[in-house]
Amino acid sequence: MRPHFPHRRKRRTQRIVLIPILELRSQYQQVKTEIDSAVSAVLADGQFINGPNVCELEQEIAQYVGVAHAVALNSGTDALHLALRAMGIGPGDEVITSPFSFIATTEAIGIVGAKPIFADIDRDSFTIDPPSVEAVITPRTRAIIPVHLYGAAAPMRELNAIANRYRLAIVEDCAQAIGAELDRKRVGSFGVGCFSFFPSKNLGAYGDGGMLTTDDPQLAARVRSLRAHGGRRKYYHEELGVNSRLDEIQAAILRVKLRHLDRWIEMRRHHARGYSRQFESDAGVRAPREGTGMRHVFHQYTVRLQEQERDRVQRELLDAGVQTAVYYPVPLHRQIVHAPLGYAEGDFPQAEAAAREVLSLPIFPELSDAQRDHVARSLIRAIARQAAACAS
Ligand SMILES: *Cc1c(COP(=O)(O)O)cnc(C)c1O
Repeated sequence: MRPHFPHRRKRRTQRIVLIPILELRSQYQQVKTEIDSAVSAVLADGQFINGPNVCELEQEIAQYVGVAHAVALNSGTDALHLALRAMGIGPGDEVITSPFSFIATTEAIGIVGAKPIFADIDRDSFTIDPPSVEAVITPRTRAIIPVHLYGAAAPMRELNAIANRYRLAIVEDCAQAIGAELDRKRVGSFGVGCFSFFPSKNLGAYGDGGMLTTDDPQLAARVRSLRAHGGRRKYYHEELGVNSRLDEIQAAILRVKLRHLDRWIEMRRHHARGYSRQFESDAGVRAPREGTGMRHVFHQYTVRLQEQERDRVQRELLDAGVQTAVYYPVPLHRQIVHAPLGYAEGDFPQAEAAAREVLSLPIFPELSDAQRDHVARSLIRAIARQAAACAS
C-alpha cells in the first residue's frame, strides 16, 4: 500500500508517535479527581505513617486476595525477604525458585543468608516446572518460590502437592500478578503472597510499595514486628528488624486504584484477546496461552520469536513506532552476582531459550484498539520481511 506513494510515506512516517510499552499518565488523568482528593485528605490530616489508609488497604487487599491477613511493606522485595525471615529461613537453608524472573526473587533468598537453587521453567507458561522442582529437593530445602510471571499463575496445584509431601513452605512471588486466578483462587492465597506496588505493576503506587498476604496470624504478626525494627511496641525491640513501611499517601492512592483494578485487568485481557486473534493465523508468532482454569492478568503480553530474529524484529518495531521490551535477557543463574552458585550455560535450557526468544508488546488498560492493531500488524510485517529475505 504505502510504497506506491513515496512522498506520502515520508509524511506518514513523521506522524508516527511512539506507542510506549507502558504509559502511566493517562491512567492518572482518568482517576485524577479521586486520587487528588485522597492525597489532599492525607496532607490535611497530617498522619503520614501507619495511618488509617494503611490499615484499610491491608484489609481490602486481604479480602481481594482471599486471605485472613495482609501486611503493608515498603516493596515487593521486602515482602519476599521478610516472608523468608519470618519463617526462620537463613544460612544453611536452600530455597528453590525460577531462573526466569527479576533479580528481586533471588536477592530475597540471598539477603536472609539462604542459598537459591534453580529449577527450569515450562516452555509454554514461563513458570517453574514442578518435576524440575522435585528433582532438586534436598534435606536442606525449606521453601519454594514460584513466580507468577507476566501475570499468569504458576502451577500451584502441583507445587502445593510437592510442598505438602516434603514439608516445604511456599512463598509466592505475586509482583506481576495481583488478581490472577487458578481454579477461582487468587494468587497470594496458595502460600505466603508477596506483592509489589512498584508504579509499573498492575496495581501501581506513585512510588514504592509492597504487601505480604497470609492466613497464618503468627506469621503476619512476626512480619509486622520485623517491618517496625523488630518490635511489637515502639521502643521495645526483641530482634533485629528493618524499616519497611508503606506510607499513608501511597496507601491512599492504592485504595483508590484498587477500586478500578478489575476493570483495568479486563481491559488488559481484552487487548490480549485482540493480539491473540491477530496472531492466530500467523505461524511466525508464538502467542501466550491462558492455561485451563486460569485468569491471566497480562502484566505483560509476551510472544516468542525465532532467537536469531528477535533483536532485529525489536529494532524494526521501534522504527515503526512501537516500543517493546525483553523481560529478561539474562536468566538468573547466568547473572554475575550468582556466579558463586556455580551454575553454567546449558543448566536450564528452557529458561535460556526463553531469554533469547521473548518479546513483550505494549499492553496497558489505556492502550487503544487502533494502537494495538498497529503493534500487531507491525510485528507480523517485521517477521514476514525476514521470511521473505530467507526465501530469496
Ligand atoms: C517487581 C518485581 C519484584 C520486586 O518488587 P519491588 O516492589 O520493585 O521490590 C519482585 N519480583 C518480580 C517478579 C517483579 O516483577
